[in-house]
Amino acid sequence: AKSAGRNRHCFFVPEMNIEVSERLNIENDLRHALAHDELRLHYQPVVDAKSKMIVGCEALLRWQHPKHGFMQPDRFIPIAEESDLIIDIGQWVLEQACQQARKWQDLGLMTGFVAVNVSARQLREPALTQTVQKALEISGLLPNKLELELTEGSVLQGTIIARRILDEIQGLGVRLVADDFGTGYSSLSFLKLFRFDKVKIDREFVRDMLSDQGDAAIVKATIAMAHAFGATAVGEGVETAAQAGVIHHCGCDQLQGYFFGRPMSVSDLQEFLHLGALE
Ligand code: C2E
Ligand code: CA
Ligand code: CA
Ligand code: CA
Repeated sequence: AKSAGRNRHCFFVPEMNIEVSERLNIENDLRHALAHDELRLHYQPVVDAKSKMIVGCEALLRWQHPKHGFMQPDRFIPIAEESDLIIDIGQWVLEQACQQARKWQDLGLMTGFVAVNVSARQLREPALTQTVQKALEISGLLPNKLELELTEGSVLQGTIIARRILDEIQGLGVRLVADDFGTGYSSLSFLKLFRFDKVKIDREFVRDMLSDQGDAAIVKATIAMAHAFGATAVGEGVETAAQAGVIHHCGCDQLQGYFFGRPMSVSDLQEFLHLGALE
């Protein structure tokens, strides 16, 4: 128990129940977050490894909770997934991201792609294809400017239906990205089964590749494997010039990380893009 308030309850309620009730509170608040306009998307640039030009950005969800302040996605997304709230939130994220990307295109600020994270629960809804289609229609964004990021775990749960949905979405011209690659178990068959357009090397391997030969080997093997499948390789979590240099040298096509730009609010990213244009 961390706070005095919690301590008081500890005499009567086991710790686990406190966690459960805290979860329920978050779930309840999250239910209203969309209607109360508390959710925002931040965008992190992705650059071409060679030219260092921005080729797109990843949309990352942020929640400004009225009482608890800023909440990390790692804390509330799992709750959204278990409570089905992720369906509505996921649709909002898709529509919002597509509209923003289209706006930047019209302004001539950023003509690249926008990447949206999709969770396992969304992949079990056959209507996901229509949701994606609708987001593209409303925004007028071309399908080849949208990428969906999926993790191995999310796709392998209910493989057959996920496979069908992802085939449909790819059929629209939207690109599929294997996110956090290397952290799962059946990575090779995963790439073969879903024909990803892009593979994102998990930042854990990028972080340690300069000091750990094993991690360097995983990065190199993943890039080679992505290329063998005709996919683009992306390194995420690039924090230093040294990491950027080494991973580029390994043949990685695109890079993302604090070294090139943090996830930013719409206005901050616009400022960032303006400055880049002046260089
Ligand atoms: P992810 O998809 O792997 O996103 C990358 C995470 O790495 C982001 O954390 C980003 O802020 C962080 N990051 C980027 N560059 C660096 C770096 O150089 N160093 C370090 N240490 N970290 C870096 P964030 O924004 O906290 O998001 C965490 C996770 O929450 C995401 O991991 C994703 O799985 C999930 N998530 C975020 N937004 C959404 C969403 O709209 N829908 C769904 N389903 N999941 C989301
Ligand atoms: Ca991602
Ligand atoms: Ca990732
Ligand atoms: Ca992750």
